[in-house]
Formats: sequence, C-alpha cells, structure tokens
Amino acid sequence: MLGPNRFAPRLCDVSLAELEAAGIRGLILDLDNTVVSWGGSEVAREHLAWVSDARDRGFRLVMLSNNFSERVMRVAEQMEIPFVASALKPLPTGFLAAVRRLGLPRRQVAVVGDQLFTDVLGAKLCGLYSILTEPLARRDHPVTGVFRFLERLMLPQRRQP
Ligand SMILES: [Mg+2]
Repeated sequence: MLGPNRFAPRLCDVSLAELEAAGIRGLILDLDNTVVSWGGSEVAREHLAWVSDARDRGFRLVMLSNNFSERVMRVAEQMEIPFVASALKPLPTGFLAAVRRLGLPRRQVAVVGDQLFTDVLGAKLCGLYSILTEPLARRDHPVTGVFRFLERLMLPQRRQP
C-alpha cells in the first residue's frame, strides 16, 4: 500500500518513455539525494541531460524540497526549473503547490524522490504517481536516519547505496 509505482536506481534511470505511456505529463523532483547528494549543489551531467530530455519531450517539471536555502534555488536554476521550498513533505500542502505550478491534473503528475516516508507517502496522500530512487549518497539529514531504518524494514528488496 505504501509502495511506490516504480523503482529506479537514479533519477537519470527513470524511463521517460514509460512515464509517457502511463499518461504522465508533469514531474515533481525531490532535491537531496535525488538530484544532488545531501547538502550538495552541483547537479551531475547525466541528471541535467535527463531533465533536458524530459523538457524536450514536453514534460513540465518542478522541484519540491523540505529545505529552504539559497542552495535549493541554485540547483533549480542549474536545471532551469521552478521550485517549491520548505515543503513539509509528506504533508500535502507542498505537493499541491507543486501540482499547481505544473498546471496539470493530479493523475498526470509523478513524484520522483529517494525517501519512502516523505516523497512516496506524500505522493500517495495526494493521489500522485510515485517513483522511488536509491539515495545518491549514504549521508543524510540526521533525522532521516530513523526513516532509512524503517524504509529498510518495509522495502527489504531495495538495493542500498
Ligand atoms: Mg531526498
């Protein structure tokens, strides 16, 4: 019930063709450990290429982060996409703000993120499609450690970084 619609090792491994086939037209991207390592601000070339491919295919994109700092803005700028910060995931408020930015019906929107209890749970609460990636790095916000433990209990098949 809590499981994501799909798993992908990294953001750039998410199949845009499959999402198109599933009727998805908009993407909500998590920041930390999905697009950059936790606390990082340089987006890897393969992720930038994936975003550019998505845009070429007509997908609308927005970044949704629980963080608020200059960093969120800098990363979103590198990817040339808008962002919603201080999102309080998994509460629906931030997800719904992101959906409004996309201007699409919820059934056409997918969330891509590395955390079951923020990204996937929030997506489920709002009726959005969800894709769980593996965290880019082992390093996390200290509070996230507790949730990682619970993720391992709930998703024993998931590969750890
Ligand atoms: Mg994350």
